[in-house]
Formats: sequence, structure tokens, C-alpha cells
Amino acid sequence: AASVEIRNVNKFYGPFQALRNVNLHVPPGKVTCLIGPSGSGKSTLLRCINFLEEYDSGEIRLDEQLIGYETPGGRRMRPRRLRELRRDIGMVFQQFNLWPHMTALQNVAEGLERVRGMARAEAQAQARAALDKVGLGDKTQNHPGRLSGGQQQRVAIARAIAMQPRVMLFDEPTSALDPELVGEVLSVMKQLATEGMTMVVVTHEMGFAAHVADQVAFMERGELVSAAPPSQIFGAP
Ligand code: ADP
Ligand code: ADP
Repeated sequence: AASVEIRNVNKFYGPFQALRNVNLHVPPGKVTCLIGPSGSGKSTLLRCINFLEEYDSGEIRLDEQLIGYETPGGRRMRPRRLRELRRDIGMVFQQFNLWPHMTALQNVAEGLERVRGMARAEAQAQARAALDKVGLGDKTQNHPGRLSGGQQQRVAIARAIAMQPRVMLFDEPTSALDPELVGEVLSVMKQLATEGMTMVVVTHEMGFAAHVADQVAFMERGELVSAAPPSQIFGAP
């Protein structure tokens, strides 16, 4: 498990400042929940960690490795180097983004073959193990259309963890789900946390933030206003 260090990060969309001097230490093997009103910059921050957005100044490090630049504010990383580093960071979105024409197993194995360059048999064995882990060992041959939303999101989680990332980012992973399907996804996330995965989770599930997070960071208007153990934010359990 790796740590993520975010220092003095600023991000603009044109004249609009989406991140204002954000500082956050994400400790290795711990769960950090990012909470705050809609539009406060939570998703932008996650996307900067995963190179989906460039930040304008400051720095983000995965352990000692600088993310996004060769030097702070300097030259952009070469695409190949960027791809290598990106493999270390798994991400799960609100929308599951599964291939509809592929089975659950193929959805998970595809990245292992294409990105990791694994042979098909090895990729499928590893994909099967990841699907087992999220409780879908009996659904490997189902296409996404034959899975519930909660099962589809668990396939998306399996796809990410199969790559053996050092950090997992979750951007409102349960927001698109019917309420009765939220628990099964949170439960898989909680299991990952128990196994010592470094996780950053944007969520509106205050129960999850209160009971599973080691740290809760609150954002408002692009600023990271506070970061503290959940007991300090929600009161003692
Ligand atoms: P949150 O995840 O907290 O809801 P976001 O990070 O999605 O917030 O958005 C932060 C702010 O940046 C919002 O005001 C949003 O409208 C703006 N924003 C996000 N993405 C873009 C973009 N691609 N172009 C312009 N503005 C954006
Ligand atoms: P809430 O008011 O959000 O339901 P609770 O105080 O009832 O919060 O605590 C339950 C919370 O714990 C859920 O919201 C969810 O975030 C988390 N949770 C519930 N069931 C599970 C589970 N099986 N695995 C992991 N987390 C769970």
C-alpha cells in the first residue's frame, strides 16, 4: 500500500478555480473519505490524483513518485511513464463503465491482457480470483445486462483490484445505485479496507464515513477545510 501526498495543489478551469491550495496526507493502508457539497472540488481532486486532469501548481506524490510532472510545475510526464504509474492507481466511478458485450470475466480480464500484457489463461485466472473476492465467483459468465447495479459495480471494483493497484480511488461509487443495493458495494469496500488497501472515497454515505474511514476530509468551494478522524467530526460512536 502506498501513501498519497497532496501539497498546495491549485487547479483552474479557465478563470474558475476548482482547487485552492489543497493539502492532504493520505496514509498508507488507510481509508480517507472526502465529503462536502456538490461542486466543492472532490471529483476534481480525485481526477488529479489519477491523471485524468492536470493540476496547475503544487504537487501530488504517490509515495515519493511525483504524479503528473517530471518536476513540480515543470515538464509533463512522458506518456509511457504516465501509463506505468497509472497502473498503480485503481479507480471506480459512479457509472460502472463495463463493456456490455463482454462477460463479467472478460471485463475484468481484458485490462490484464491489454495493459499488463498477461497471457489469456493467466489473465482469466487472476480475473476469476478478483471476482471471487467481490462475491461474484458464480457470475463470471454473466453479461452486465444480466447483473444488478450492485453486481455491476462489484465487477468494476474487481476490474480495478485485479490490476493490483497500490491505491484505490472511488468517486461516488454507490450514488447511481438503488438504495437496497448500496450495502453490498460498501461491504466489498469495507473488506478491501480491512485488507489494508489505501483508499480515497468520495461519498455521501455518512455511515460509511463514520464507521469505516480512518480520516474524513471536508471540502468546500475548492478548499480542503479540515481532515480529522471520524470521531472528531461525527462525535464518538
Ligand atoms: P464535486 O465532485 O465536489 O461535486 P467537482 O470537482 O465535480 O465537484 O467540480 C468542482 C467545480 O469545478 C464545480 O463548480 C464544477 O462545475 C467545476 N468543473 C468541474 N469540471 C469542470 C470542467 N471540465 N470544466 C469547467 N468546470 C468544471
Ligand atoms: P446510515 O445512516 O448511513 O445507514 P448507520 O449508522 O446505519 O449509517 O451505519 C451503517 C453504515 O455502515 C451504512 O450507511 C454503511 O455506510 C455502512 N455499512 C452498512 N452495512 C455495511 C456493510 N455490510 N459493510 C460495510 N459497511 C456497511
